[in-house]
Amino acid sequence: MNRLLKRFLNYVRIDTQSNPNSKTQPSTMKQKNLSKLLFNELSDMGYSPILDEYGYTYCHIKKNAEGFTSVGFISHVDTSPDFNGSNVNPKIIKSYDGKKIELNSNLFLDTNSYPILNSVIGDDLVVTDGLSLLGADDKCGVAEIMELAQILSEDTSIKHGDIYICFTPDEEIGKGTINFNYDFFKVNYAFTLDGSTVGEIEYENFNAASAIVKFTGKAIHPGSAKNKMVNASRLAMEFHSLLPKKMIPSLTSSYEGFNHLTELKAQVDSALSKYIIRNHDLSKFKKQKEKFEEISKYLNNKYSYECSSVVITDTYFNMYEKIKPRMDIIEIARKSIEKCGIKAISNPIRGGTDGAVLTYNGLLCPNLGTGGFNFHGPYEFASVQQMNKAVKILLEIIKY
Ligand SMILES: [Zn+2]
Repeated sequence: MNRLLKRFLNYVRIDTQSNPNSKTQPSTMKQKNLSKLLFNELSDMGYSPILDEYGYTYCHIKKNAEGFTSVGFISHVDTSPDFNGSNVNPKIIKSYDGKKIELNSNLFLDTNSYPILNSVIGDDLVVTDGLSLLGADDKCGVAEIMELAQILSEDTSIKHGDIYICFTPDEEIGKGTINFNYDFFKVNYAFTLDGSTVGEIEYENFNAASAIVKFTGKAIHPGSAKNKMVNASRLAMEFHSLLPKKMIPSLTSSYEGFNHLTELKAQVDSALSKYIIRNHDLSKFKKQKEKFEEISKYLNNKYSYECSSVVITDTYFNMYEKIKPRMDIIEIARKSIEKCGIKAISNPIRGGTDGAVLTYNGLLCPNLGTGGFNFHGPYEFASVQQMNKAVKILLEIIKY
């Protein structure tokens, strides 16, 4: 069996699901079961990795020649809390023929529901048994970086500069960077390996904020409410009706931003709405946030008391603002991908990545495809051929 595949199968069988309700890092101690294995494997390769108390595994692969830039590679060990992550029982489909894949008697994968399967016909696929997620997100990335480390430990004829790698915990719950050790990572730039189709280079993501809107009503017996009652539930609905009607997730794609109502608790005396605000464009993002303040002011004026208040918190920003002056990094990725005979593709991410946070903190960090698909559920799968290509791309990137 292909060594990379074997590695990947070992990693996905280890339950590393993170927990959004945990107050610790790592959010679940079981993530360290994989981190410890990575630590041991890197040690066996002759490196001196570090596994810290927060569950971050670092490794410095020292340069063996001059004239190369220092580069970093990052992926995350945890899997999504969205679906069962235990007892992962991966199955291999040899040379996929394009027909329906039975995961179990109830669940199947086919090209009608998942047209992306057309792009991997002929490949060997790793799929689930339908009872858990696979963890291709992001164990594809972990396995590919580990394979790179092993190749470099065995073949010293490959010349390279300083390479830093990191396997982070808790990416899926938005906490993959909170204890990241920037001082250890002495690189000019890095890549997260956390994307899907091999050949993807992602360097544009949403600007993101959350808004909490509180409404205070005037409760009174409905029988004697005329000209007195202000129903907070109705205030919340009125507020929502004043937001742009077409700027919602189900009506937007590509570079279109949205305001998404994620929670609504409403009674007569008080109500609370929570929104997330998203846009790739920073000035449009600002206007979206201002709209929330405007509507609140309008309602406070209309009802002649402070019936609403808005608190907006920025969550992350579009990494493109920081990457724009350094498009040479994207060029390096593009050339490396094309040298492997693969088409380079870039699409805006309609979400965020740990790379976005790292980039804003000064570590420029676009995201690359790994050969994993349909993340976060039982339909997740990986293409072995694409994973092998991802390793080849890394071997090109280190040549700059
Ligand atoms: Zn991921």
